[in-house]
Amino acid sequence: MRRAIRSLRACAPAAILCAATACGSSRGGGDDDGVGDGGVFAPDAAIEACAPASAGAFAFAEIATWRDGATAAYSMFHDDMCGPAVYGIQDVAVPLLAQHGIVAGLAPIVEQCELNGLWDVVAAAEAAGHEIVSHSYSHPEISTANAAHEVAEAKAVFDQHVVNPITFFVFPYDYFTPETIAAVSAAGHLGARAGNRDDNDGFEQPPINPATPTNDLALEFDVWPRSYSKYALFFPADMLAVHVHNAIERGGWALREFHSVIADGSDAATQGFGPITASEYDAHLAFLAAAWKKGVLWTGTPSTVLRYRHARTACGASVAGETITFDTSNPDCVKYATPITVVVTTQEDLPRVDATQGGEPVWTRKLGPNRFGVTADPTRGDVALTGCSNPGYEVDPSVALPPKPAPAASVCLIESVAGQGGAGRMDDLERDPAMLQVLPNPSQQDGRTGSWSWYPQAAEVDITPEGDGRVLRYRGTALAAWSGVTLAFLGGNGAGTCYDAGAYTGIRFRIKGSVSSSDTLNGKMVVSVVTAKTQSRLYGGDLMGEGGHFHKVIDVTPGWTTVSIPFAELTRPSWGATTGLSAVAKDALQAIDWGVSNMATSFDVSIDDIELY
Ligand SMILES: [Zn+2]
Repeated sequence: MRRAIRSLRACAPAAILCAATACGSSRGGGDDDGVGDGGVFAPDAAIEACAPASAGAFAFAEIATWRDGATAAYSMFHDDMCGPAVYGIQDVAVPLLAQHGIVAGLAPIVEQCELNGLWDVVAAAEAAGHEIVSHSYSHPEISTANAAHEVAEAKAVFDQHVVNPITFFVFPYDYFTPETIAAVSAAGHLGARAGNRDDNDGFEQPPINPATPTNDLALEFDVWPRSYSKYALFFPADMLAVHVHNAIERGGWALREFHSVIADGSDAATQGFGPITASEYDAHLAFLAAAWKKGVLWTGTPSTVLRYRHARTACGASVAGETITFDTSNPDCVKYATPITVVVTTQEDLPRVDATQGGEPVWTRKLGPNRFGVTADPTRGDVALTGCSNPGYEVDPSVALPPKPAPAASVCLIESVAGQGGAGRMDDLERDPAMLQVLPNPSQQDGRTGSWSWYPQAAEVDITPEGDGRVLRYRGTALAAWSGVTLAFLGGNGAGTCYDAGAYTGIRFRIKGSVSSSDTLNGKMVVSVVTAKTQSRLYGGDLMGEGGHFHKVIDVTPGWTTVSIPFAELTRPSWGATTGLSAVAKDALQAIDWGVSNMATSFDVSIDDIELY
């Protein structure tokens, strides 16, 4: 009965409630310092005009792996822009980004921008140097049936409102399939945030993309907040830096998903999915700015970094005399045209080298002794180099970057709630079906907030009328995979959290239905109690490796039965790294999972009145 319980989905539906109001926004501008072409930080201070000096001789060293010779690249996203719950994107995030001279990918929803009259806000954010990426027309789960409208038509509408045609797509709920990724490509997008998350953790297999352009439409990423992150074993203040350190260690590209940024002390529950506070965000931007100053990180917009991966490998460059000449004969060099950093060395160790292309200055930076980065678009022609005796922009290796944070010994040290007892209701499902996954779950008691999730995504789960009440209905046909519906104790899926149910004896629920399966689990379900001790680090637990959970195999009958399972009567894990555990960790509960065999041909089960007793 080997199966892993997993379901990390972002963008819970509570984020999308329309209100027709237009709002103020910050306006940025200018790109002679590189900001605006999606890439380089705004320098602290303007510099004097060049005092020409002889460099002796210039020589070509390399085309830098990442812009400015940085060790790694990083891109941030703010999803659901224009939704009225996330005005913090334009009102808080964009001003903070401007303060640090940093750019990001902003992912609006067409319908929300239309309804709330926010196209000018989107245009202003683009003018400030940010990239507008598509987050679909109306934010449903993307399917082959709705892709024409939600993907292609959305791009067409966006392109009427922005200067740079849309080239990047962000899937609502981070839900995608090979077919819908193909639809995104067919609609003219170069990239998509659609990497498989199930094979990543926060340690040996972090979600970091390579420097080579191998996965433009399936880019790996990590999600804020912590309980949806692969770094659930790190404190919130650390998990953002860990992702960046992992990119630096691998010379790769890290993508970070955010939604809104909210004022400190304001109500997070009403401001979209998993907002980050202004002070947490500001601290992160300061870290990124320091990493840039130190020359180890380039924070750029998603399409600019994507293009850079291609242009770096497709374009050529050489130096003769005081001229950089580009080889743009490879069609990809033109298709993915973007400024790339050519590293040149000088005979004289001058403080600065300036450069112009077509008479216009291009960005240069001293990377080290006798070593300079010259950043220019290969398709715009030769670059003329000039040595200067006065200082310019340079990498400062002495900048202190906080070391890579260490994980907590257990997620329980990061987020833990102890039940007082006497209030065991977890869910009676007596609410609007659209509020199935709402957070916090209004039915929970005694400090619990947990909501529902399921896997695989093709399983159908909803609240359905039954008699004069409502129940949860869970069904699937020919899923050919282990399937499960999961009720968390805390958060969207219990990842990264611990609930102490020491005051309770066991779990109880009502169930009915049918399960057709060709194995011994025909007519049966596996009820698992997921704890931080049995859940893998891959999915927000403490466990190194993977293993089974404490569980009970139950019969599912056409008529309603009430099932009571004392914690003490749970069956020990039967596979993997957890077979040595003797008792369920009642103080580290994460979720209850109702699982169906991967050999099942069909199942249709109703569950109700889940409680601790
Ligand atoms: Zn979204």
